[in-house]
Amino acid sequence: MDLLVFGIFGLAAGSGIALVSLGLVLTYRASGILNFAQAAFVMVGAYVYYALRVEAELPGWVAVVGAVIACGLGGLAIFWAVIGPLRHSGALIRVIGTLAIVAVLQSLVTIIYGVQARTVPGWLPTGSFQLASGASVGQDRLWIFGIAVVLTAVLGYVYRRTAFGRVTSAVAENVRSTAMLGHSPDVIASLNWALSAALAGLAGTLIAPIGVLTPSSLLILIIPALAAALLGQFTSFGVTLGAALGIGLLQSWITNYSNNTSLQSAVPFAVIILVLVVRGRGLPMRDHIYDSLPHVGTGRIRWIPLLTGTLVGAVLIIWVIPTTSVAAVAATLGLATICLSVVVITGYAGQLSLAQYVLAGLAGFMAAKLTAHLPFLLAVITAIVLAAVVGVLIGLPALRTRGAVLGVVTLGMGQVIYELVLNNTDVNGGILGVSVQSPEILGWSIDPLLYPERYATACLLILVLLFIAVANLRRGAVGRRLLAVRSNEVAAASVGVSIVESKLYAFAVSAVIAAAGGVMFAFLQTSVIAGQFTPLGSINIVVVTVVGGIGMVGGSVLGATLLPGTIIDQLLNISALNLYLPLAGGLLLLIVLRTNTSGLFEMNRLQLAWLATLVRSRMRKSAPTRRTTPRIKHNNESDECPPITPRALHVTDLEVDFSGIVAVNHVDLTVMPGQIHGLIGPNGAGKTTLIDGVSGLVKCTSGRVILGDVDVTRWSPVQRARAGMSRSFQSLELFDDLTVMENLAVAADTFRRRRYLVDLVRPEHIELPDLAHRVIDECDLADVLDSYPTELSYGRRRLVGIARAMVWGPSVLLLDEPAAGLDDAESAELARVVRALANDWGVAVLVVEHRMDLVRSVCDEVTVLASGSVIARGAPEEVLDDSCVLESYLGVNHQNEKEMRTTS
Ligand code: ATP
Repeated sequence: MDLLVFGIFGLAAGSGIALVSLGLVLTYRASGILNFAQAAFVMVGAYVYYALRVEAELPGWVAVVGAVIACGLGGLAIFWAVIGPLRHSGALIRVIGTLAIVAVLQSLVTIIYGVQARTVPGWLPTGSFQLASGASVGQDRLWIFGIAVVLTAVLGYVYRRTAFGRVTSAVAENVRSTAMLGHSPDVIASLNWALSAALAGLAGTLIAPIGVLTPSSLLILIIPALAAALLGQFTSFGVTLGAALGIGLLQSWITNYSNNTSLQSAVPFAVIILVLVVRGRGLPMRDHIYDSLPHVGTGRIRWIPLLTGTLVGAVLIIWVIPTTSVAAVAATLGLATICLSVVVITGYAGQLSLAQYVLAGLAGFMAAKLTAHLPFLLAVITAIVLAAVVGVLIGLPALRTRGAVLGVVTLGMGQVIYELVLNNTDVNGGILGVSVQSPEILGWSIDPLLYPERYATACLLILVLLFIAVANLRRGAVGRRLLAVRSNEVAAASVGVSIVESKLYAFAVSAVIAAAGGVMFAFLQTSVIAGQFTPLGSINIVVVTVVGGIGMVGGSVLGATLLPGTIIDQLLNISALNLYLPLAGGLLLLIVLRTNTSGLFEMNRLQLAWLATLVRSRMRKSAPTRRTTPRIKHNNESDECPPITPRALHVTDLEVDFSGIVAVNHVDLTVMPGQIHGLIGPNGAGKTTLIDGVSGLVKCTSGRVILGDVDVTRWSPVQRARAGMSRSFQSLELFDDLTVMENLAVAADTFRRRRYLVDLVRPEHIELPDLAHRVIDECDLADVLDSYPTELSYGRRRLVGIARAMVWGPSVLLLDEPAAGLDDAESAELARVVRALANDWGVAVLVVEHRMDLVRSVCDEVTVLASGSVIARGAPEEVLDDSCVLESYLGVNHQNEKEMRTTS
């Protein structure tokens, strides 16, 4: 019978989660945004209800209506002020925008109401009823369940059956077409935001009376709510309700069997993470839209300012700053280190990790525990290594999920670690925490209570060393690979970059850095209170790092100054202004997102650089300096034949079936070294899918792909690339965060794994092989090597794509519509380059092309595909004049083809 009682409690808890999740589904359906601020609206609703009901002593129903209206209007205002203006930014930036809303709303409520817990009277019937077992259950629990079910049914009906719902779905499907039909996507999205915020307001009035109300008590609901909405794929209200109820039930039933509350919170998330990971994909699909992330610095170290700054910092700590404030300086340095870990994982590698603060806490906690058995330094090193292992475990879902979903998964994993370890009173020492031994390095005490200056100076030196390591990482081959993965995973895999290694490496390095920061921060006290490293703290860490500059090493320090517990916090405390610090952080983030997503560090740097240029130009009366091409070591004197191993490509009986749609139907094809083989066919014939199948990007249902005499059918795209098969993409897929030179270097690097460690200390200059220089000459790219791809004309970007595919000397080159979007001159230049690669270098080229003039002029043989099957093959003149081909492929273009032939 206990099962029934716990089941009813579970359903009520799950209904509370569902009320938050349904709002998440609403905002996602209308604007495609994963709204991390949904629980913050719930909190606002609860406080408005509290204010009206308790403070203004209004009747319950008036307070409920007031809370719903206030939240609805708030949602509308926030959409027009924050979300609407970010509509052209990447999904990740918009998610970070919602994190800023969380920071702003939470700090506003804290400023007004403080952090003390409040009891809120409910407005539902308060009576209880007896179960057969004698147990009694509050009626309000069943009411909440009923309300959640009714709301789900109403929302399902409205969004499936009414005109408003249909238009909302249409906006989510295709903004442009809906706008052309006379519906303003912004108006539709804002109405949905208002509705979802109103729903959150209602949820606040229902959930707050169940426990006590504090500014953070309801925010934590976002984690299970996001998990439930993710299981409903942010589209299905019914599945989301089911998932939320499932989470509630599971948690409640675990309570029935175990007193361990940590287990109760952790298990459902472990299950959800598993489901999401299983449902994810190793590499994104062809139509995946990559997030544009803030600009990344060059990683160049300016030694004089760095060393001077370090020296000045040390002098200030040792002789100037009052002893009472030195601990706050050390805390700032510890937090800056944790922010630096975000620069690596999100800034460089593009993986949104919302578990960095928990990881830092875990390391501090483990180090504290270990100091009871090991010398301090050994304990810290062991804790950091263990944190790196946990960091890699947190990174595992990144191999199957990406973007905002990864943010949700890592937040959930942070929650699991927090509940199982940091918040687990069986191991965390309760409110007294885990006491630590006095820290010392090689017999020299750096105890922060006895020698705060020594401790803070040690923290400063560690942070500076980590700065140097992270800047080195950016300049080295590993950094370029991380940025390539961040820019475009599929393209990175196609040039032989291991996505798995790169992501896990980034998670490991960032975990090590976060752990170092966690230890610095935790050891400031005589005991480590692990529970202070909350999962939501990780959101704050990301918020302030974006404000400081998520792609810049220096951004971490600027960002950290906005966190509580720092020296700035202490200074502002004198006039109680520190209360406004989190609010300032949130507002600054909104400003940064709307002005320059590179962050305050970059904005200041640009202004300082502008000032310096101005002063210099005044003094020298000369023009400002120009950007220079990076130093390159090379020797391109050699005129020998390029070191390409001639190999043929054999494709036999290849079939690709997308759940019933046969895109490629038992195709045979051979391309010999030095041959250019054209692949033509109408739209949807299966040409790109064939190239995807050959390069390993899609799984083939049957058939074989043989490179030279090696069967590569079961090999991954990375292995095929390394074996000598290269490709370009229809939609270019260049690494936009890297210069042309760096794009080529990523592909040309003969990467050794030791670079993962060596690059942190001594990154090498870009050293392109001779072949790469010949490719650069062939494609005429020498003058744009230090430009970013986005700065080039479309034609030159196409050539960069081909050059990138060729710089490492592949035997087989797969080109997917290389002439798309080129004018006649550019396409003639392209034809010359492709011909030279085949004739002079012996490359086997398979080219998909729609331009018949190009096919006619460069191809030695042509295969025609229609509906996935080969319908003709032969010399271009034969095939292109074949009446069958003209009928089935060229169809209405027959006339155009004739005209084209006449003009060419
Ligand atoms: P185009 O010239 O327009 O690029 P194509 O000849 O390259 O066309 P493909 O893009 O390979 O054609 O598509 C072949 C068929 O496979 C099409 O019917 C397409 O809708 C289908 N298809 C492609 N990718 C997928 C996928 N991921 N899932 C389901 N069907 C797909």
